[in-house]
Amino acid sequence: MLSAPTPVVHLARLGLLGHPSWGPWVRHLIVHTTDRTMPASLELVAGNRLLASLPTAACERIAALLTLRHVGRGENISAPWEPLTEMMFPTSSVISVVAETAEGDSVEVGTIGREGMVGSTLLLDGGLSPLRMMCQIEGDALTGTPEDLMEADVDGLLRSLVLRYANTLLVQASITAACNRLHPLEQRAARWLLTISDRLDQPKFDLTHEFFAVLLGAQRPSVTIAARELQQDGLITYHRGRVEITHRAGLRAAACGCYATITEHYVRSMGLPLG
Ligand SMILES: [Zn+2]
Repeated sequence: MLSAPTPVVHLARLGLLGHPSWGPWVRHLIVHTTDRTMPASLELVAGNRLLASLPTAACERIAALLTLRHVGRGENISAPWEPLTEMMFPTSSVISVVAETAEGDSVEVGTIGREGMVGSTLLLDGGLSPLRMMCQIEGDALTGTPEDLMEADVDGLLRSLVLRYANTLLVQASITAACNRLHPLEQRAARWLLTISDRLDQPKFDLTHEFFAVLLGAQRPSVTIAARELQQDGLITYHRGRVEITHRAGLRAAACGCYATITEHYVRSMGLPLG
């Protein structure tokens, strides 16, 4: 089910960014909406590692075209076979790429947080996809249309960045497919918890058993047992839907090698840190 529309702020369309006297002020702009107060600042762009890696001039051109929005947990970013019309750069949210079968089962094949973006296939003439994009960790993201962003990308730096990231997503999905088939649930659970922690840059996050099971493509009782074993080993605490990684090195040791492989490929391909 689609979530209710979220109020948005578009600095460029408000005509604020182009006015020289507004520069310092707009960086701390607070826009009051009908149902919430939402801060918007150019510094938000720094919350996404891809955007933050751009040179300042390119970053400012892109920032002027981005809209801040809040993404709720479970919200559909795009449903299977539904056209994706915007690029999305998470700053504090995490998005899952989920494959669904005709029998109604589903499993996560990709995880996208502040180290990446949604919509890289738009530059590959990807068209429609049978995959679902949904929010697994609630938070914020910056969105813009590919047409606007590519027009502003006069030096081609954003395009290059997005295409390189698309390659890391392809590798992530491929390794995940092997992982889901070959590795025990406890190892996969440890890998997934590390993956989320890296994309949030923090060791604590909300996660229900039900959602955990969907993301791992496993039955809920099995996921409960795997989580309990990680707790008994002193690697995490998991209480009332709240996870905290308490022994990161131990959790890394408990995870399958797919975690290190995907992380290393991202770091070497993008030249950016992860985790
Ligand atoms: Zn694995």
